Amino acid sequence: MNVKNIKSFIDFYKSLEISTCIAPFPRILNNENQKKPFLKKINPPTISHQNNKRKDDELKELIEEIKNCKCDLKDVATNTVFSDGQNNSKIMLIGEAPGADEDKIGKPFVGQAGQLLDKMFDCINLNRKKNFYITNLVFWRPPGNRKPNKHEISTCLPLTKKHIGIINPKLLILLGNVASQSILSSNEGINILRKKENYFIDKELNLKIPVKAIFHPAYLLRNPIEKKTMWNDLLDIDEFISNNNII
Ligand code: URA
Repeated sequence: MNVKNIKSFIDFYKSLEISTCIAPFPRILNNENQKKPFLKKINPPTISHQNNKRKDDELKELIEEIKNCKCDLKDVATNTVFSDGQNNSKIMLIGEAPGADEDKIGKPFVGQAGQLLDKMFDCINLNRKKNFYITNLVFWRPPGNRKPNKHEISTCLPLTKKHIGIINPKLLILLGNVASQSILSSNEGINILRKKENYFIDKELNLKIPVKAIFHPAYLLRNPIEKKTMWNDLLDIDEFISNNNII
């Protein structure tokens, strides 16, 4: 761990209100950390970089398409929750579905889970105002914050895939089981997916984008024991970004 990471580590633990940290071994000796990097060096992007004007136009068209799509959740939601952050980011985060705060404000990850997410990513110098783009798999709040059902997911998934194609990130970070399984077309749980080398592959769009699947911040709020695992995943993401000169 370098000095920058030690400082971020302490800040991260402080933000989680942890004041004592006893580690039996340094990170390097721990089995969990003897695994290979989660992804090899990435290939150059397979599609040419669109200019931002074109990206903005494509995003506007996509919003219209989303607003006109037939999803029952639309009728019970206050707002369509599309995205936040920088359109030209090389890093795109995708969560599950908006909650009550997001539905009220119309932006993803603005509630308690979103605040934790911002703190976590700040520790590795990622910030939605500067260098990442964030959205959800499903664009409307499922009533009572239930999980989106299969029908709702299959209605939104093609639009989310289009969204990925427009942003065309160099790294896609999927938050939690629902987003990871749906976007990677996998039945494996997040505990397996987070340790694997994953890619988002779309032959039609000619895309092969490296993916890191991590725990959802809302899961972390309910299961504080997993914070160390999350920290290791954040370090892996940081390393991948540096090794590939992503930002
Ligand atoms: N959880 C999500 O998956 N997305 C949000 O926008 C908020 C909470």
